Amino acid sequence: MTYSTGADLVTLIVAISERINANKDELNKLDAALGDGDHGTGISGGFAVAAEQAQALDNPTPGDVLKSTAMALMNTMGGSSGALYGTFFLKASMLVKDKTELDSNDWAAMCQAGLEGVMQRGKAELGGKTMIDALAPAVEALKTSDQSLSGTMKQAAAAAESGAKATVEMVPQFGRAKFTGDRAVGHQDAGATSIMLMFQALASVT
Ligand code: ADP
Ligand code: MG
Repeated sequence: MTYSTGADLVTLIVAISERINANKDELNKLDAALGDGDHGTGISGGFAVAAEQAQALDNPTPGDVLKSTAMALMNTMGGSSGALYGTFFLKASMLVKDKTELDSNDWAAMCQAGLEGVMQRGKAELGGKTMIDALAPAVEALKTSDQSLSGTMKQAAAAAESGAKATVEMVPQFGRAKFTGDRAVGHQDAGATSIMLMFQALASVT
């Protein structure tokens, strides 16, 4: 695959929804150690609605699918992370709104825009044990890869995986988990893990 079309984006949102749903309990468990234990339930519910709405779109562009996903996540996920995931997809959709096909440069630019949106909205920084710690390395891999689209996505997924694993050793500095302090060391961050699952789904369909 060289380009991603609107139909490919629908396939992606469905694949993300399935992968997140299969890991729902694990995500709840991770969030229970650092927060309130609802991340798996929230995000799997959000992506179930996003997948349903994406499949109902009539001949959508990639931007249409991303925007519809943003709205579904913002409206149904709730919690602090619903707004953050929604922002990611909304900023990404705005960047590619006039395109019918996305190449690896488009993917890099729109994920960079999404990352910047999440950082602006949530004020978290790299190393603070949040979704940023998986997202930022994945975006960096998208920007620097010289592989085919599918090779690029595999590199991004690998970068998100190492980023998520690296959160185990971090002390949380943002969100609810901040109050757990040093007791959080030894636990992987739930949001970084769901970002990893999203990029794994992306690699699996590209
Ligand atoms: P809530 O904290 O409202 O219960 P979730 O449980 O759905 O929301 O999501 C928790 C995840 O959100 C955390 O694991 C972390 O990765 C991410 N998160 C929390 N606060 C921030 C922030 N300010 N910026 C980026 N990500 C954040
Ligand atoms: Mg939570």
